[in-house]
Amino acid sequence: MDKETLECSFCGRQKADTNLLIAGLDAHICDRCIEQAHGIVSEESKNRGQELSSELMLRKPQEIKDFLDTYIIGQDQTKKVMAVAVYNHYKRLLQPTTEDDIEIQKSNIIMVGQTGTGKTLMAKTIAKMLNVPLAIVDATVMTEAGYVGEDVESMLTRLLQAADYNQEKAERGIVFIDEIDKIARKSDNPSITRDVSGEGVQQALLKLLEGTVVNVPPKGGRKHPDQKFIEINTENILFIAGGAFDGIERHISKRLNMAAIGYKSAQQEDKIDHQNLLQYITPKDLKDFGLIPEIIGRLPVLTHMNPLDAATLRAILTAPKNAIVKQYKKLFEMDNITLTFEEDALDFIVQKAVEYKLGARGLRSLCEEILTDAMFTLPGTDENVLVVDKSYAKKNLSRTRLKQLKAVS
Ligand code: ADP
Repeated sequence: MDKETLECSFCGRQKADTNLLIAGLDAHICDRCIEQAHGIVSEESKNRGQELSSELMLRKPQEIKDFLDTYIIGQDQTKKVMAVAVYNHYKRLLQPTTEDDIEIQKSNIIMVGQTGTGKTLMAKTIAKMLNVPLAIVDATVMTEAGYVGEDVESMLTRLLQAADYNQEKAERGIVFIDEIDKIARKSDNPSITRDVSGEGVQQALLKLLEGTVVNVPPKGGRKHPDQKFIEINTENILFIAGGAFDGIERHISKRLNMAAIGYKSAQQEDKIDHQNLLQYITPKDLKDFGLIPEIIGRLPVLTHMNPLDAATLRAILTAPKNAIVKQYKKLFEMDNITLTFEEDALDFIVQKAVEYKLGARGLRSLCEEILTDAMFTLPGTDENVLVVDKSYAKKNLSRTRLKQLKAVS
């Protein structure tokens, strides 16, 4: 075809009638057709978004819990609560605009539990199941706008990044706010001083939790006039907050004792499990700890994580889909080495984790200690079997290292 007769292969316009004609292998496309095609593609992806949401609907709470079970050991009560909250959250996203004016409120979640009990894992697993982006942010680095530190809104930048800058995806994502307890009001009297780290941040969080449109700087950092913003509506973002709330047991036990005064029977007292007071937590305890009522109101689903006992730690080593032991086996397998752990070695690891109060996080460090030498020396040799029994584990775990592990955990 000579230059004069070039035309768009889609609409037939002559080159001269277009602003731009782009050549392909043996076809051409004009600027108008590109724009139209772009429109079709965006429309399609919007529809796909709808489809995705309907897929979410198909997961009933029991199925959500079953999925959580494959990755997380125990914590049954919390799994149920989470399954229902997540189910309702996505049901809310799908609600058609109805005439009855019943608007389903968001079911943001707050999880209370000691560090290392699986709060982050819970949020990660839910995000994985729903195939939505997840941002994990730390409340301790947040400050009110204008102070040194990160604006509360920076969590949306993270979410946007997790969503590969896809605004729609980000708007259906999950934000996990860790260490929410660290922004509790330090004093019961709010008027003593202005509390930069605590109440101000809680105030700043309120709007995000509830649902608002925020101009988010996609690259993060402080807002400045030259930066382009992406608008993010937080209305359908699920916020999950987690915290250890060290010392909250004091408030719980005080409340339980008060309730019991006057008609406390021996039987009632027996029923209270003093080893795990968190299971009785109520919103009032969060308030007594220093969260403002407005924040508590916007995190309506309150749940707790149980401390991990030896049996749970033992199961965490081997049972979950990507259990620590399975991960190491895979690593060795890549060097054609078959790794096996004897039962007594696993018991020994759990025993040390309990003894040195290392928690679930410590299990990994312990395995790493035990296997480091082998991971260094075995690749490249003819050895293709490694059996870790108790004596092997013991030999590779010195007391000094254990103490150091404890110090960092
Ligand atoms: P948290 O957020 O409560 O501090 P994480 O979720 O970070 O705790 O858990 C710490 C580590 O322990 C992670 O590697 C996680 O996989 C593991 N872990 C904790 N609890 C469980 C559990 N119930 N089941 C499986 N793994 C767990």
